This record gives sequence, structure tokens and C-alpha cells, in this order.
Amino acid sequence: MGCSMASVDKEPGYDPIALAAATEKVVVRGNQRKYVQLGRRLRFYGGSISATEVGCNLRCKFCFSDKPVWKPGRVGKFYSPQAVFDGLDRAARKYNTKIISASASEGTLGKQHLLELLELVDQSDYTYVLETNGMILGSDQQYVRDLKRFKNLHVRVSMKGCCPEEFHKLTGAQSSAYELPFKALETLIAAGISCNACLSVSFSDQASIKAAKRRLYDLWPGLLKSLEVERIKLFPKVRKRLREHDLLTNAISPIKWSAHPI
Ligand code: SF4
Repeated sequence: MGCSMASVDKEPGYDPIALAAATEKVVVRGNQRKYVQLGRRLRFYGGSISATEVGCNLRCKFCFSDKPVWKPGRVGKFYSPQAVFDGLDRAARKYNTKIISASASEGTLGKQHLLELLELVDQSDYTYVLETNGMILGSDQQYVRDLKRFKNLHVRVSMKGCCPEEFHKLTGAQSSAYELPFKALETLIAAGISCNACLSVSFSDQASIKAAKRRLYDLWPGLLKSLEVERIKLFPKVRKRLREHDLLTNAISPIKWSAHPI
């Protein structure tokens, strides 16, 4: 999939910020958020514990999260920040790790829930990895400023594709939203919050990968050092969805069932 200049006259696709607001009505209740489970062991960051969130504001065609993203009303239960922390804490003690996170959906939905969870994390010796597609943080600078007070936080911003045109094809969202994760990273770096970028490259050619890396370098050279280059996993449902949308992939990773989609 190559990248070219897209017309901005008429922008097809959905608005991820509007979809976030609509999804929050389904997966957020006061300070509670929906999760499928609270303590799964993952191989990431040298071994971590992750809760499975419900609800995302993108619809990446290569996402394997399935029901938590595509049918958020049908899965999961509501949990308070304390219940989520306790679940993560329990599993982290069992597996002797200090890295905790939530994955399989968008981590910034339900701001009050997240901030209260991070308050609990800050009173512990865990590091919380906030997995995000960067849409909300890129559009809401106050949200980023509200994260600044947390010392046990790392934000992983995942970029879907290597240019606006590719982003639109992969997610169905408005191509202009491709800019938001870059804005999120810029604001996070300015606020001094620990962060890194992750680039999905399975549908990109070498020229567009190089251009996206250049953008990250221009934002802050250190982003290239910590960059994660992500290749999709062709789970059966993902393969079916990609076929339906006639999307060809250049690069895949072997399937490991502990992988996470963000
Ligand atoms: S890959 Fe991530 S951002 Fe995309 S739909 Fe799945 S959970 Fe959401």
C-alpha cells in the first residue's frame, strides 16, 4: 500500500473522537469501566500483567481484539479503579512482575477511571503502561497535562499505518485523524511524560515507512531509538476481515496467543 497526497475537500470516514464519546456511553459508568478480565500474563516488556479492556474508538481492520472492540455492549463487566488495581496486583505478585497495563482496546476511554487507577498505581511500586492509539490524547491537551502528575506511568502510542491515506484504509476513520498520535507524542514529550511510539507497518511500503520514521525523528530523535515496529498477526478472524476489505499485507508476525492488539 503506497502513500500519496489525499484530497482534503471531502473527507470520508468516521471521526474517532465522536466514536470515543459514543463508545464511552457503553463502556464507562461513573468511575467504572468495562473489562473482560483483570490479570493476564503477557510477554511484553520482559513479562507483564495486563487487564483486557472493552471499547475502542478505532476499527482497525487488522485488529484481533474482536468483541471488546466490535461488540463492546456484549462483553465484559464494569469494574472500579480499585478492583482493577487489585486484580492487576494479585496477578503481578503471582508472576513477580512490576509492569502492569490494560490492552485489547483503547486505554484513554473513561478518563476519570484511568486517573483514579493511576492514583493507586502511584502509591505502589508498579509501572503502568498506558496503551493508546493517541486519538484522544492528540485532541485533548488538558488530558495529557492531567497525566503529568503520575510518576509510575509510561505511555505507548500506537500509530496505525505510515501516512493519512493508509490510516484511512486500515481503520476507516477520517484520514486527518492520522495527525493526532503525532500531536499526542509532541504534547507528552513537552510535558515530560515517559512515552514511546509503535508503528504498524504490515501494509506499508519502504518509502512510506521511511517517511513515517523521519516524522518521528523530527518530532524527537529519541523516538526512533525506542520505536516498536509492529507487524500484524493473521488470526483467522483477522484474515477473514482483511479478505473482505481486499487488504493485502506485506509483513506478518507469527501468531503468539499472548500478543496484544494496540
Ligand atoms: S488495533 Fe488497537 S486501536 Fe485498532 S481497533 Fe484494535 S484495539 Fe482499537
